[in-house]
Amino acid sequence: MSSGKSKVFVTRNDMPKCGLDLLNKECDVSYWDKPSPAPRQELLKRVAGTNAIYCALSDKIDRELLDAAGPQLKVVSTISVGYDHVDVAECRKRGIRIGYTPDVLTDATAELTLALLLCTSRRLTEAIHEAKTGGWVSWAPTWMTGPGLAGATVGIVGFGRIGQAVGRRVKAFNTAKILYFNRSEKAEAKEIGAEKVTFDELLEKSDFVICTAALVPETKEMFNKAAFAKMKNTAVFVNTSRGGTVDQDALIEALQNNVIWGAGLDVTTPEPLPLDSPLFRLKNCVVLPHIGSAAIEARDTMSTLTAQNILAALNGKDMPAELK
Ligand code: NAP
Repeated sequence: MSSGKSKVFVTRNDMPKCGLDLLNKECDVSYWDKPSPAPRQELLKRVAGTNAIYCALSDKIDRELLDAAGPQLKVVSTISVGYDHVDVAECRKRGIRIGYTPDVLTDATAELTLALLLCTSRRLTEAIHEAKTGGWVSWAPTWMTGPGLAGATVGIVGFGRIGQAVGRRVKAFNTAKILYFNRSEKAEAKEIGAEKVTFDELLEKSDFVICTAALVPETKEMFNKAAFAKMKNTAVFVNTSRGGTVDQDALIEALQNNVIWGAGLDVTTPEPLPLDSPLFRLKNCVVLPHIGSAAIEARDTMSTLTAQNILAALNGKDMPAELK
């Protein structure tokens, strides 16, 4: 018998509890019952008849899935700020509202970006491996050296919430210059001391190139062979946006041929990155398993916001973070 409550489907069973508690108070909540993404066919089955979907970036929300859910679906709420996995136009056509989680993960992702940058430039994974496996024979003046941030020029591609938060943090490392590239001029750049330049100028002048741009058709594979060729061969490339902004074969070639010095990647294509990817074998590449926002507080707040977005939409109210 129906409870009369709105039906919410949650695509994983390991979403942070605080958000799920909120939903459980008011809604009839069902879950994919494993802590891994539901196989596509299961997802299509489970969304049928629901009023709301609580999803993650690993769930493709496209026309097929919206059809499978049915016309009663009111809201798709993703526990992420990126929404490249959601067919926004198709949702709009059907009057389905979209919730996401901007701001609450900005600090966590900026922190991780700095951690990854330093891990790559100062060769931390290699150095830890050497220390544990006997490579540490004595202190050595040129061993395990890498480029420093102090005095360096840092280029940030995509100077939005996360890009700016990264800019504020790299400034504290006594960098010489911060350059940024995106379409619009950002007022915050003045306080950060960042200068807007063209993409090519950023590539040519930066010692560190950091990508924090949204993945949209225009940014897809913007880091291609030509882009890596324009970068200094001493440059470190860091990507914490989406794997799709990079032509990964071109990056592998650039790393293998020392066209650039190194790369730190929190995001790849595909995810998870297959174990036989050359990226895992390259000493000048650090790969993380997409953990940008994985600070405990951030993930809890993201879950709460994802649930609040659903509850507001189901009750016909303003959502705290609706994608407009
Ligand atoms: P945001 O504030 O919307 O910033 C996105 C930036 O991308 C904006 O500065 C935007 O500027 C720029 N951009 C959009 N289209 C562009 C284009 N065609 N060319 C150049 N720049 C363009 O979003 P955010 O909160 O900073 O998040 C940024 C991205 O980080 C998300 O979309 C997500 O994919 C990724 N992310 C990853 C993790 C992780 O775990 N690694 C965590 C959180 C977020 P203009 O519109 O002015 O061009």
